[in-house]
Amino acid sequence: MPQDNIDQIQDHVTLFHQEEYQQLFAGKKEFEGGHSPEEVARIAEWTKTWEYREQNFSREALTVNPAKACQPLGAILAAVGFEGTLPFVHGSQGCVAYFRSHFTRHFKEPFSAVSSSMTEDAAVFGGQNNMIEGLATSYNLYKPKMIAVCTTCMAEVIGDDLQAFINNSKAANSVPQDYPVPYAHTPSFVGSHITGYDNMMKGILSNLTEGKKAETTNGKINFIPGFETYIGNLREVKRIAELMGINYTLLADNSEYLDSPNTGEYKMYPGGTPLTEAADSINAEATIALQSYSTTKTRDYINSEWKQPTYVNRPIGIRGTDEFLMKLSALTGKPIPAELEDERGRAVDALTDSQSWLHGKRVAMYGDPDLVIGLTQFLLEIGAEPVHILVSNSNNAFEAELQAILDASPFGKGATIWGGKDLWHLRSLLFTEPVDLLIGNSYGKYLWRDTKTPLVRIGYPIFDRHHLHRYSTYGYQGAINLLNWIVNTLLDELDRNTIIPSKTDISYDLIR
Ligand code: SF4
Repeated sequence: MPQDNIDQIQDHVTLFHQEEYQQLFAGKKEFEGGHSPEEVARIAEWTKTWEYREQNFSREALTVNPAKACQPLGAILAAVGFEGTLPFVHGSQGCVAYFRSHFTRHFKEPFSAVSSSMTEDAAVFGGQNNMIEGLATSYNLYKPKMIAVCTTCMAEVIGDDLQAFINNSKAANSVPQDYPVPYAHTPSFVGSHITGYDNMMKGILSNLTEGKKAETTNGKINFIPGFETYIGNLREVKRIAELMGINYTLLADNSEYLDSPNTGEYKMYPGGTPLTEAADSINAEATIALQSYSTTKTRDYINSEWKQPTYVNRPIGIRGTDEFLMKLSALTGKPIPAELEDERGRAVDALTDSQSWLHGKRVAMYGDPDLVIGLTQFLLEIGAEPVHILVSNSNNAFEAELQAILDASPFGKGATIWGGKDLWHLRSLLFTEPVDLLIGNSYGKYLWRDTKTPLVRIGYPIFDRHHLHRYSTYGYQGAINLLNWIVNTLLDELDRNTIIPSKTDISYDLIR
């Protein structure tokens, strides 16, 4: 057998085509007594119809492939942006294994997060003992500077009280009394990863600034990225601030953690915003959040407790970046440097070069609220026409904001916002009202396969293409990246559709 030969280990792509596996699959099918291929094909065709779409949209109790993840996943992404911080998830082990592997598959980096490993006894009697033991083990074994605690559904269902458990753990000497253990309750039967990010960011900032009062200004601007998975975006925001000579604190900077250099030496906590600097963020001039719906509670907290002004700016596309730079300039009195003006000119030039391929193109997209708002603004700038905009973790404020953006452009008139819907709904939409392009994360691969709609991978997670997360989608350079991914996907598709000599290929153009 080739798979027994260690010099010739086969990937599953080729392995399962071997006779042995083919026989096994055939036997399994026979044993299961499934429907005939003709019946399967008949039903598959029916799922492409308007009749099926109506039934699909009338379902209430079932969700199929929602475009969202659970709260603690967002919470631990926020936590690893802080210096030496270990995310500690109070709940079952399997959940944490899922979070770690989800991030590792996207970022291609190790991701450290521990769990209190609650099992049946803890589910009945409460998880306090798990917390007491778990904090002590984490503190002694992994030597973090801060342990950030969040919860899984199990701990929330039985009503574990994190503040009381952490106090009791400190009383039991699991960690020193003055050791920072911020926490956030992150039940996944409500909200999503963006809510979890928000809850944890608020939890960490309130812990680090506890007892402090904003009395002076340190002359800095705080940036809060939100649930950001493009490492290039964090680097772009820092580059822009440095070009403008602005003192800033990034709350929190997980760019090193999620993209650390391979030096041959393993570091458990690379990079991160220093805890002293994060604590001093209470004294900044202002906070700019780069996403709105993953920072709502954090901004409310900063406004009400720190008495610090907060703003939301998404530096996506030309207008988004213009507004971001003008906000920075207005807050700090620093001029926008000529270098950034040149970058703007180059981005506008690139958009102009490609506009004939993009004008009027019908687009479907899905993802988190802030991502789709940024992408919608960008598509409207390049003359493309959003048609289906699907957001599983939607809310009324988001839908009103997006609708106003669509209403303000002639290219937005044909768009429908599908709030709270999932990717199986989107499948029906793509079959019944087809579009030229689909934008979303790797799960769109199944929609691409079924509906043949070309897919541009933008969002989170992206498991099946490498390195996209290293690029920026922010700033003028980010606009060129977005443009590149979108227009070249359309051109690839055009080439694919004109590839048969003398048939579909009448004038197979070299120049596009
Ligand atoms: S939804 Fe709840 S049970 Fe499922 S992985 Fe997330 S936290 Fe765990």
